[in-house]
Amino acid sequence: MERKIIDLRSDTVTKPTEAMLKAMMEAEVGDDVYREDPTVLRLEQLAAELLNKEDALFVTSGTQGNQVAVLTHCHNGDEVILEADSHLFYYEGGAMAALAGVQTRTLTGSRGALDAAQVERAIREKNIHLPRTTLICMENTHNRAGGAVISPEKMKAVYDVAHAHGIPVHLDGARLFNAAVALGRDVTEFTQYTDSVQICLSKGLSAPVGSILAGPKDYIEEARWWRKKLGGGMRQAGYLAAPGIIALTEMVNRLAEDHQHARLLAEGLSKFPVRVLPVDTNIVLIDTQGTGMTALELLAKLSEEGIRASDFDRHVVRFTTHRHITEQDILDVFQAFEKILA
Ligand SMILES: *Cc1c(COP(=O)(O)O)cnc(C)c1O
Repeated sequence: MERKIIDLRSDTVTKPTEAMLKAMMEAEVGDDVYREDPTVLRLEQLAAELLNKEDALFVTSGTQGNQVAVLTHCHNGDEVILEADSHLFYYEGGAMAALAGVQTRTLTGSRGALDAAQVERAIREKNIHLPRTTLICMENTHNRAGGAVISPEKMKAVYDVAHAHGIPVHLDGARLFNAAVALGRDVTEFTQYTDSVQICLSKGLSAPVGSILAGPKDYIEEARWWRKKLGGGMRQAGYLAAPGIIALTEMVNRLAEDHQHARLLAEGLSKFPVRVLPVDTNIVLIDTQGTGMTALELLAKLSEEGIRASDFDRHVVRFTTHRHITEQDILDVFQAFEKILA
């Protein structure tokens, strides 16, 4: 019998639901570069409403959404303040420097959350010697901090400092709906403290492709021009927007189940000689040093048992729960650990 693979590498491995596939087949489409795709227009309007922003743009990926956001906010030579482990800085191939030509001012947060006083100290004064600080970025949930939730109150503190200095804020909300579900608060409680926001449709929300960048009307108009320059102007994109609409309307509440599975996984793993980091949402980080194995060594052993996860650092492994992971899968992970560490 072919063994089932338990794929905990990422929530991006989720496949579209039956309802999504049906919606794709039936989507009404047109040429979206001419703004004639009714399904894309419907997705953008829906996303803008849910995020409480004036307008929204359907982009190919989270990375494209973030980079278009930076390009739209900044000029080259500007300085951007962001968290030292943020996706924008860590995982986007140096695109901020390569494409927008900005330099980064990284601050180490506390479980991913920037400290408002530290942000204020990092903002450049007007001085002929200095670059201009023209953007502050936050990330929620924070991936490398283990899916950590940043509360709206913490976001407000940073947002207030930014606005006191006339600097816009961008939120990398790839997993913002996970944060909202985890705290039982509406997503707009978070987005009120950012000028622009990027959310991924293709992670736990299970759409096959795409992200949304939302913000003020004139900002999104400018972002649309940057998206085209980056090759992100898509034609009959309604086939991809249709599952995105289902992602936003039908797939948000079920994220609670992923969080429950992550907590179950964390509880069980804490009985083994690994250090389990705090769990807020659907990501579980473990430090493998107590096992005498590196992350890659442990991943190789897990792979032999049909379990896949990601290496996050020399001794840190990331497990991500999602729609295809069941409670039985989590129990199977414990059994694999018993075997590997026996
Ligand atoms: C996944 C992710 C992105 C990028 O999304 P892609 O669609 O993979 O480009 C950006 N930020 C965070 C925090 C992410 O987890």
